[in-house]
Amino acid sequence: MLRGGIPIGKAFGIQLRLHYSWFFIFALITFALAGVYFPDTYPTWSLSARIAAGLITSVLFFASVLVHELMHSIVSQRQGVPVQSITLFFLGGVSQITSEPKQPADEFRMAIIGPLTSLVIGGIFLGIYFQLRNVDTFAAQFVTGIVQWLGIINLFLGVFNLIPGFPLDGGRVLRSLIWWRTRNLTRATRIASNVGRVVGFIFIFVGIYFIFTGNWLNGIWLALIGWFLESAAVGSYRQLLMQEMLKGHVASEVMSGDCVVVPPDMTIDHLVNGNILNSGRRCFPVGSGSEIMGLMTLHNVKEVPRDQWTTETVKEAMTPFDKLKWVRPDEELSSVLRILSENNINQVPVVQDSKIIGMVSRENLLNFVHVRSRLGM
Ligand SMILES: [Zn+2]
Repeated sequence: MLRGGIPIGKAFGIQLRLHYSWFFIFALITFALAGVYFPDTYPTWSLSARIAAGLITSVLFFASVLVHELMHSIVSQRQGVPVQSITLFFLGGVSQITSEPKQPADEFRMAIIGPLTSLVIGGIFLGIYFQLRNVDTFAAQFVTGIVQWLGIINLFLGVFNLIPGFPLDGGRVLRSLIWWRTRNLTRATRIASNVGRVVGFIFIFVGIYFIFTGNWLNGIWLALIGWFLESAAVGSYRQLLMQEMLKGHVASEVMSGDCVVVPPDMTIDHLVNGNILNSGRRCFPVGSGSEIMGLMTLHNVKEVPRDQWTTETVKEAMTPFDKLKWVRPDEELSSVLRILSENNINQVPVVQDSKIIGMVSRENLLNFVHVRSRLGM
């Protein structure tokens, strides 16, 4: 769901990104502050003061969300679990953490630091508010207006994230506690994600109730958050089950080895009609002799306009070898899955001695998991 986004820099070695949906929510919050909240609370403010306050508040709000996520990431990295990136999107922030924590205590610390950070930030903003609220100048009023809203919203974020439903921080705290008591990560995840689903459904029902009682904007918002929580809870449990089943297995076990190598000067038209349509294969190593130059997939084919299929060659349309993601035959399947989803690709070639000896696709992985779960293994 959160692939892509615009990189805005790095902090502590972590790539920071803005998802496209973030721009929408940034504009919406700025507009709501400058157009509704500040005019209602401070009717004497000029239009430019409201707009300035709206923008500053919005920027500081997302900076607070970013600090919350950064604290998760810093604690996680300290415990030896690397963090790839943090993406801000329309419901807040999300950290791309490359693997599950190793012990319950690690997860507990990593999860609890987020809400604590929000509560501390909220406390600091409200502290400034209480210092300045009786000072009778425009500058003081301008600052108190901003910090009051930020203080309350950060306290709210801290409390909201403590709700014990996975994947909220509180759900992770709950999972770490059950994990610690039962020593069983799968069971702990199942319980925490079920609580997460219940929380999600409650949000959806309250949202629908709001919509029918006329408070439709808040209703839609709550229902949307509920829907997101519910599907994230289901998704994270499934992902864990999949990781568990893939554990201890490597790429060479599931790869399809019957790769057909196509010559670089073959036209797209020839490839489609002579190879893809009659074999159902989706990707082809491109090369001459034993040398592999790149990989041609359905995705590459679709990039070429139809009327150029008879003139363009696979060499021109393929992904060249040096740009290709690939894995070794002994690569763990869980890390193959991670490579596929991090790069948003459907298959990855298995390379040994700079030769493509097979392909692992999402389908291969799903089949592997499916067959094993049918057999109860
Ligand atoms: Zn958090």
